Amino acid sequence: MTQFSPVLPVVDQHHLDRQLYPHGVAFMDGQYLPMSEAKISVLDWGFLHSDATYDTAHVWNGRFFRLDLHLDRFLGGVERLRMKLPYDREEIISILNGCVALSGHRSAYVEMICTRGSSPTFSRDPRQAENRFIAFAVPFGSVANKEQLERGLHVAISETVRIPPKSVDPAIKNYHWLDLVKGLFDAYEAGAETALILDTNGHIAEGPGFNVFIVKGRSLKTPAFGVLPGITRRTVFDLCAEIGLSVTPGNVERDEIRDADEVFITSTAGGIMPVTRIDAATIATGYVGPITRHLMDLYWQKHEDPSWSSGIIYP
Ligand code: PLP
Repeated sequence: MTQFSPVLPVVDQHHLDRQLYPHGVAFMDGQYLPMSEAKISVLDWGFLHSDATYDTAHVWNGRFFRLDLHLDRFLGGVERLRMKLPYDREEIISILNGCVALSGHRSAYVEMICTRGSSPTFSRDPRQAENRFIAFAVPFGSVANKEQLERGLHVAISETVRIPPKSVDPAIKNYHWLDLVKGLFDAYEAGAETALILDTNGHIAEGPGFNVFIVKGRSLKTPAFGVLPGITRRTVFDLCAEIGLSVTPGNVERDEIRDADEVFITSTAGGIMPVTRIDAATIATGYVGPITRHLMDLYWQKHEDPSWSSGIIYP
């Protein structure tokens, strides 16, 4: 029988931290910490049961992009999950600013999380749990890398069905990702770079961390049912209104996506990202289309506009 040895192997903690954690600053239990020190109990329901909601905003060139919309979605989710935060909206803004400012990052991925927490008596009643707020800022990350942004992503449609909205409300941003991760593995097996999965009616839903749009002529369409109402998706609606393109939320069939003139995905992690191949077929010419390019340009321009973005005060 293997004997448990109370003598633990010596680890070079500093080396391990550098391998496991990106440079960044977190906030939890009332204080700012280096990323490597931000740890939660394994008894937290957020970890044990995915009983949590979160939101991810980004900072570009020292400015938050549409932080108010991210806060609205986050605070709405917290309320609907019957959680209570120890901080109000203004305090959360100040904490998020603090994480970014202390990290020194000019471009950052900024997450705010509320977990159910755990109960001091280990009660199974979620009402007894003490909810926990965590925030952090790490370097900006993207679904698509530079090469993929230039030539367009290769996406596979997986047969995996997204968890039904009647089970988990997709408007509450959540960590129920087993379906999305299964879709990703299906995509890798098919030789693609990422996945789209289906809604409960067999239409296209969304992918691991992004929404999807198709373009036909001067009209755009994006799935309406069973998807997270993404802030980048919403931004595409706003940009289309500005430049006179029509955009409709509705059912998107598999054939429709293959037959589109252009396809792109949207996420805070990367913005508007072109797709030029679905399964074995190229989309139209196989090159990034003009409407996608135009929207990508406008999207990044808006990051400098004070009515769409707010500056960080660095120390
Ligand atoms: N869909 C899912 C499942 C997501 O997790 C995300 C973002 O993480 C999105 C869509 C895109 O949302 P947003 O544009 O707000 O980043």
